[in-house]
Amino acid sequence: MRIGRFSYKGQVFTGQLGDDGIVYPLTGEIYKEIRTANYGYPLDEVKVLAPCTPGKIICVGLNYRDHAEEFGLPVPDEPVLFMKPSTTVIGPGEAIVLPPQSRQVDFEGELAVVIRHRARNISPEEAPLYILGYTPANDVTARDLQKKDGQWTRAKSFDTFCPLGPYIVTDIDPGGLTVSTYLNGVLKQYSSTANFIFDVPTLVSFISGVMTLMPGDVILTGTSGGVGKMVDGDKVEIDIENVGRLMNPVIE
Ligand code: MG
Repeated sequence: MRIGRFSYKGQVFTGQLGDDGIVYPLTGEIYKEIRTANYGYPLDEVKVLAPCTPGKIICVGLNYRDHAEEFGLPVPDEPVLFMKPSTTVIGPGEAIVLPPQSRQVDFEGELAVVIRHRARNISPEEAPLYILGYTPANDVTARDLQKKDGQWTRAKSFDTFCPLGPYIVTDIDPGGLTVSTYLNGVLKQYSSTANFIFDVPTLVSFISGVMTLMPGDVILTGTSGGVGKMVDGDKVEIDIENVGRLMNPVIE
């Protein structure tokens, strides 16, 4: 199932994109129950927005075994967490705006997990019950400020620094998905979630032991090797097998 947020004639709603190309609004308590209306709108008549409005975005640092080995970095024994504010979120097709404070803004293609139910202190075995689905994400990073500041809040938090979407795909196994990033059509990052140091259930369990996860919260699962700089006029795409392709232009 593909779940997204859309606007039609100025009205914003969460809906399910059917195989017939029609977007059916969800009714009832989202995401507690996934019930669709018996009417819908053709996809080409709606605007596709970011697929959820997270209260918080929790991100994982180094989480690809191949990436750690590439840089000779020690494999962490626990996930390293940081956060991005909810105001970083933009939808597919919206522009990533390069801030004047930075000389190097990088893309980081990542698999995002979207939380379905309130979760606190859950086990890895229980985690799938609390996950709504998966969507492509770009953990946009001002690399020079990340190095300068010695911690990551400013570097990760500029407006537009968290493109998400287009859809949350439910009922898939996040364990062996190919994640690719293209800059202006050229492949820059290519790996598989099979290389994760901490798999999705482990991450959700670990984070839920720290903070209560709420419906619509997003977890960015970390990036692989090949991250690089974006400049004004670029087009960046994150493509995840069976999940979708997220495209955003870059402007100054
Ligand atoms: Mg990242």
